[in-house]
Formats: sequence, C-alpha cells, structure tokens
Amino acid sequence: MMTTWSKRTKAVHAGTRRSQYGEVSEAIFMTQGFVYDTAEDAEARFVALGDDEFIYARYGNPTVAMFEERIAALEGAEDAFATASGMAAVNGALMSMLRAGDHVVSAKALFGSCLYILEEILTRYGVEVTFVDGCDLAAWESAIRPDTKAVFFESVSNPTLEVVDIKAVAGLAHAVGAKVVIDNVFATPVFSDAIAQGADVVVYSATKHIDGQGRALGGVILSTKEFIRGTLEPYMKHTGGSMSPFTAWLMVKGLETLELRVRAQADAALKIATALEADGNLTNVIYPGLASHAQNALAQAQMGSGSTVLSIDAGSKDAAFALLNKLEIFTISNNLGDAKSISTHPATTTHQRLSDEVKADLGITPGLIRLSIGLEDADDLLGDLRAAIAG
Ligand SMILES: *Cc1c(COP(=O)(O)O)cnc(C)c1O
Repeated sequence: MMTTWSKRTKAVHAGTRRSQYGEVSEAIFMTQGFVYDTAEDAEARFVALGDDEFIYARYGNPTVAMFEERIAALEGAEDAFATASGMAAVNGALMSMLRAGDHVVSAKALFGSCLYILEEILTRYGVEVTFVDGCDLAAWESAIRPDTKAVFFESVSNPTLEVVDIKAVAGLAHAVGAKVVIDNVFATPVFSDAIAQGADVVVYSATKHIDGQGRALGGVILSTKEFIRGTLEPYMKHTGGSMSPFTAWLMVKGLETLELRVRAQADAALKIATALEADGNLTNVIYPGLASHAQNALAQAQMGSGSTVLSIDAGSKDAAFALLNKLEIFTISNNLGDAKSISTHPATTTHQRLSDEVKADLGITPGLIRLSIGLEDADDLLGDLRAAIAG
C-alpha cells in the first residue's frame, strides 16, 4: 500500500512505530541500549539482528529507525542511515566505499567541508581525486577513467547554484562501474528524483530543510540495502557518527511538514528572483528557476523547480555589506533551508578559506550574497530586499 502513496502521505506516515501505549505522535526512545529477556536472547541478537530489533544506539534506535524509514520512503531509496551531521554523512559515504589506490572524480564547486574531505582527508589515505567543472560534461568524460571508483558532486552547487546533470554524469560513471554519490541538499527530498536519475548514494544535511527550523544538526545517507547495511553500517557503527534519538525525533516531525515548507519557500524564491531581475538594480540575479539561468531547462527537467535559494550580486564587497546591514527581515547567518530567511556573504564567511583565484574561478565574487528564502510573506521579503538595494 505504502508504495503507491505520494511523497506528502509518506512524509506523514512512513516508518511510524507505535509503542504499547498507542501514542499519536512518534515516541522519543531516549535510550542508548536495550535489554534482553535471557542470555540466550542476547546471544541470538548478536548473532543475527531480527527486524526491528536493536542492540545499542550507535548501531540503531527505534526513533532513529522511524526517521530512516520515512526519508527512505520519500526519496525512493531501499534503505537509509541517519548521521550526527551532514558532514558525518558525506564522510561516511565516501570513507566506507573507498580505499587506498582508488580514484575519485569530483565537481570542484563544493561546500567547504566537502572540499576538505576530498582534498585533504581522502588524499591523506591514498585516494586520488580529480576535480572538474561540474557543468562541463566533456570534463567529466575525460577525467573518469576505467579505474574510477566514485564520482561526487552537489546536484545544485553552493553558492553559485550551478546545476549538475545527474543522468549524464551517472551515464559516464556507470560505464566504468563507478558509484555516483550526490550531496543533494539544495534539491531537497521534495524536488529530488536522484535515485531514478542514476544516483547510487544520496546524502543530505538534515540540518537544512529537513529540520528547517534551525534546531539541530543531522544527516542521512540513502542507497541500496546492500550498500547501507553491507558497506556503510559497519563503518558508521564502529566510528560513532550516528544520529541521536532526540535529533531523529525532530527530523521525523520536520519531514511531516517538509513538502509544504519547501514548496512555499521555492514559490517565494521564484517570485523574489523574478522581481529583482526585472528591477534591474543588481549586477546579477542567480536562480535556477529563472529563464536567464544557464541550466534553467536542466533544473526544470531534473527538479521541476529552482528550489529555495537564490544568489544576488551587489557589485562589490562594500555594496554587499551595506545591503546586508540594511536588511530587517533577513538575518545574517550561514544556515539555509530555514523557516527564517537568511542572508550570507560567502566570500568572507563560508568560502573565506579559499584563495582569491579559486573564488574567482568558482564565481564567488566580492559582491555575491546568498539568500535562503524562508516562510515569511514573499512580498515582505521583496520589500525588505528592495529597500536594502535602494540603500
Ligand atoms: C550544510 C551542508 C553540508 C554539511 O552539513 P552539516 O549538517 O552542517 O554537517 C554539506 N553539504 C552541503 C551542500 C551543505 O549545504
């Protein structure tokens, strides 16, 4: 029955486990361990874990399992493993599948910590990494080799919002037997069809839209049962990056409203981007949902939306800072996907570590501002931006 449900229905019901009390809202099983009726039961559980049986919260917990099942159903994945943060998910997905001597091809436009894992950590353990422009299919094609084990990219890059063609890159990767690992934060589970499009492993920072209210760090890795239980789980359960039951409960409740929130945020983002572009008072307005965006057709085909984040270019660092300091509704922070609209100056915060040359190469200009559109009234947000742009 559940397989025929739409995402909205799955987001409310999938994975629910009720205790003997029949509670309506999902219970928080705030326990690190589980007791066994007899020594024989303990022995049996350690030999082979049955369905819905648990040993220790680092390996699994009923509230965490509710979150994992619910998001797996939403994403159309066989299985999922919940992690302490988005970075624990990216690290776990890559470290569990790779070993010394392997070759990885990655898009170069990445969230700073993802870049650190690929550039600094994997290479330290003998993994060779080749970076390419994620939008350049010829570059992917020439970088992928017969011995390439994995490709990695953000389906929509941060903060310049370039859209990578999942089907095309997956086709090139699968031709040599490489796994496709996608950091899918900007697409969100609402607009994602990444597994059907060719992703082998999909990773989310649940800190973003899934919580959506700025409360907790979390992450999740979605893939086949074989990868999640055979490859990933042994790595995660022995290295300790699993999600806490309390966080899992926040995320379970976040999933219930995810689609309503994300669609409202994306509708507002499109309205605001369209209006700011028409005003013509900015150097640039970047939003995958705008016809002027280089991958607008791809964004529509792949996600059916431009999603919830846009970037604007105020022309210079001084103009960007003046604009940021004038905003009244948008708060200056670095989260995204939140109910509260958030403005970020990537060049001096999230991407500060990069050299000027790398920033220029990635399009992170001094005037660039990333705007995560929240749940406030779109006209109020537009008014706030117009007043700040007018100075
Ligand atoms: C935020 C983010 C991460 C890291 O997630 P945390 O939950 O902060 O660890 C990874 N990738 C992308 C694209 C992100 O936006």
